[in-house]
Amino acid sequence: MGLPRGRVGLTTRDQQPTTRFTILRMLGPLIGAGTVVAAAGVVAYHAMAPWAQGFGSTFVCGPSSVKRIALTYDDGPNDPHTLKLLEVLAKDDVRATFFLIGRYVSRRPDIVRDILQAGHAIGNHTFTHPTLALTGAVETRIQLEECQRAVEDATGESPRLFRPPFGARRPRTLQIARSLGLEPVMWNVTSWDWKVAPAAKIVERCNRSMGDGAVVLMHDGSHLGFGADRWQTVVATHLLIEGWRAKGYEFVTIPEMMEGSVAGRQSPVAG
Ligand SMILES: [Zn+2]
Repeated sequence: MGLPRGRVGLTTRDQQPTTRFTILRMLGPLIGAGTVVAAAGVVAYHAMAPWAQGFGSTFVCGPSSVKRIALTYDDGPNDPHTLKLLEVLAKDDVRATFFLIGRYVSRRPDIVRDILQAGHAIGNHTFTHPTLALTGAVETRIQLEECQRAVEDATGESPRLFRPPFGARRPRTLQIARSLGLEPVMWNVTSWDWKVAPAAKIVERCNRSMGDGAVVLMHDGSHLGFGADRWQTVVATHLLIEGWRAKGYEFVTIPEMMEGSVAGRQSPVAG
């Protein structure tokens, strides 16, 4: 941001050439530093912002003209809270989408089979949950392939969806995912359920940005360890379903939301 402002200031007509030169000499290193900081900011934005499309297109949310919401859960399978969540979703007759960590899939393949049998969609969330914006191409490919293999061993099915851990990616990350037949999926509503409790607070956070075509990020597990307590997320799930159903909303999986989108992709912010 320093660069454009600096340029404008230094080309003001009423400044004498000598003054301009002196100022330029004084500010030169600062402008250079500002450019680097600004460039780093742009890179960080496209690497981390869930809705950014600069590093390749991703599915962010559905059309803003339909009363549909997709609940998504990351970092499972997890015991017992994935199972508790499945109970709530079954009782409320809602199908959701689960982005699974491969090493947990290998540990509890039975839970993954339960998820699929209940009619939910599943996606690849890597094998050990690294920050893919920082891993090399070989490591990224291994992470995605190992998670695919774990799910295939558990269920006989191959995920078609992929969500990068922390939402962090770079162009190569998305290229590798696509080369493996995986569609990158982000989100446009953050529940902050890994930070916020109790359930009513999670619901309050979601309600601030939920609406037509929303894709909601929640967690039934934790990348920090197996067995994380996600009871508040389970309770929040029921409250969200109850509240938004009363407003006439339908709950769908990510593949269902994609079908309802123009060309399969929608983004609230272009670029
Ligand atoms: Zn995650």
